[in-house]
Amino acid sequence: KTFEDLSFDSSLMSAIAKQGYERPTPIQCQACPIVLSGRDLIGIAKTGSGKTAAFVLPMMVHIMDQPELGKGEGPIGVICAPTRELAQQIYSEAKKFAKAYGIRISGVYGGMSKFEQFKELKAGCEVVVATPGRLIDMIKMKALTMHRATYLVLDEADRMFDLGFEPQIRSIVGQIRPDRQTLLFSATMPKRVERLAREILTDPIRVTV
Ligand code: AMP
Repeated sequence: KTFEDLSFDSSLMSAIAKQGYERPTPIQCQACPIVLSGRDLIGIAKTGSGKTAAFVLPMMVHIMDQPELGKGEGPIGVICAPTRELAQQIYSEAKKFAKAYGIRISGVYGGMSKFEQFKELKAGCEVVVATPGRLIDMIKMKALTMHRATYLVLDEADRMFDLGFEPQIRSIVGQIRPDRQTLLFSATMPKRVERLAREILTDPIRVTV
């Protein structure tokens, strides 16, 4: 498979070429068509597989497909990751592809003062990349609402559970409209992650690489 087969538009294709990505990785080949069709997805994949682009590239298409883009407030895409380091990596990967469309991304994790983060979120964005605890703090401070969110990604779900974020994840998911598209990525599928997936995904397709 090539990136042409995934039928991304020319803006995305040139951003992909600019990154030097020549062909899609196996997780990208398998996940992108499913996600682009609007289905929920469980992706069993590790870091290094190219899983980030597998959810970031279709997210750009999802956001540009919103008829009322520019209206309303709060992020359309919400990505949760277990650690600041991982969230930062996702942030920089997403940034590469968002630029072409003028899509604004906010990183919501430790490192920036809560006040600075509050101001940035108030200014508006289409995507947040967040660690669960900090995202909840920002929602409580009313820095953002989840009313416009329709694309949710839980990355490294097993690690988020290991770090004790299950209640925070459930709280965040509970604030996002049920007709959202949900993607869950995990290196392993322990029982508790499997149970969450059953509860919050709708008829998901499972992909293992
Ligand atoms: P990830 O598994 O998402 O952490 O990605 C691992 C690394 O592979 C990152 O540095 C990406 O920028 C890079 N990458 C992702 N997709 C591709 C691709 N199709 N071709 C080459 N490199 C890629």
